Amino acid sequence: MTFFKNAENRGHESVHQFYDSQSGLKAIIAIHSTALGPAAGGCRMWQYKSEAGAVRDALRLSRGMTYKNAMAGLPLGGGKAVILANPDSPPSDEFFHAFGRCVDSLGGRYVTAEDVGVTVDNMRLVKQVTNFVAGLPPAEGSAGGDPSPWTADGCFLGLRAAAKHRLGVDSLNKLRVAVQGVGKVGYDLCRQLHAAGASLVISDVSERNLARAQNDFGARVVSPENILFEDVDILAPCAMGAILDRHSIPDIKATVIGGAANNQLAKEKDGKRLFDRNILYAPDYVINAGGITSVSLEYMGNKTEADVQAQIALIPGRLSEIFASADKLQTPTNVIADSMAEAIVVAAATAPTT
Ligand code: NAD
Repeated sequence: MTFFKNAENRGHESVHQFYDSQSGLKAIIAIHSTALGPAAGGCRMWQYKSEAGAVRDALRLSRGMTYKNAMAGLPLGGGKAVILANPDSPPSDEFFHAFGRCVDSLGGRYVTAEDVGVTVDNMRLVKQVTNFVAGLPPAEGSAGGDPSPWTADGCFLGLRAAAKHRLGVDSLNKLRVAVQGVGKVGYDLCRQLHAAGASLVISDVSERNLARAQNDFGARVVSPENILFEDVDILAPCAMGAILDRHSIPDIKATVIGGAANNQLAKEKDGKRLFDRNILYAPDYVINAGGITSVSLEYMGNKTEADVQAQIALIPGRLSEIFASADKLQTPTNVIADSMAEAIVVAAATAPTT
């Protein structure tokens, strides 16, 4: 499918490509919807196999942000930035200044923050040239900072709700959990799961991240090829997307899936495949909304960590509602979540302006 057709089919408002010859920056910013507010979503820096792959990721991720922000009750639309990482030249300060100018040129229609491959320090540089950024170090007690620990909090609470629904247990104690990817969110989720008494199986392609989680939580390590198929109660994908597909789903042994990774389903119909196998799937953009909740409250200003915590505490209830509807209507959880999110966006888009 062509670039334009792809954007049109997914309902994007606009897609922007940027190139800066001085710093070497190559970036895409996709704005899916501003119906609920400025399009917000993190910035991912990744070594893509092709430019088309980067565009595809930006389109998929930005659409997911529209759904995520709507379901989280945030006054934000959906957008995403993707930077094509260059393995031969580590990004300079000027590289992130250039990225900040790209964000700034959109006049506030897009607000950026951290995602895979991007750090708080990178966002500090972005902040030097634009105000349309969050995920910056907060003042003591205020909302803000690295969104990852908040994402992990939401995932932990969401997994408890999913385990209660499917396994009938009130705690994760003694449950076996496989965590794919122990980076910023995955590591913090492991910390909480370990503290709750779960036994952990982990995998990562980064030896450093793997060793850290293995040492700190006594986790068993398996290869990236095997992690999805471990004999566990819960699978928590916390690496990259599109891992649940027609090839992997038949061999998954977990009965609950929920984690931080965006776009875990390769295709919408993979949600039906999970449903048919009686695997309870916690829709990714519902369970992983903790980080964007922090970003949103930081961006709005005058909000505290307690406000962020209070909003994240709503995630398990939202998931339980989805699980109950899915049971009642005999419909996959991703389909239920999509229709709830779409109804929120349509209501905002068609509301009379005052
Ligand atoms: P991260 O880069 O810190 O961690 C990702 C980890 O996954 C890394 O350790 C990486 O080495 C590992 N990994 C990559 N490919 C892998 C593979 N094939 N098998 C196993 N491990 C692999 O990123 P993060 O911020 O922790 O985000 C993780 C996921 O959660 C991403 O999909 C991201 O989009 C999503 N997410 C993150 C946040 C957030 O607040 N950081 C919020 C919402 C969603």
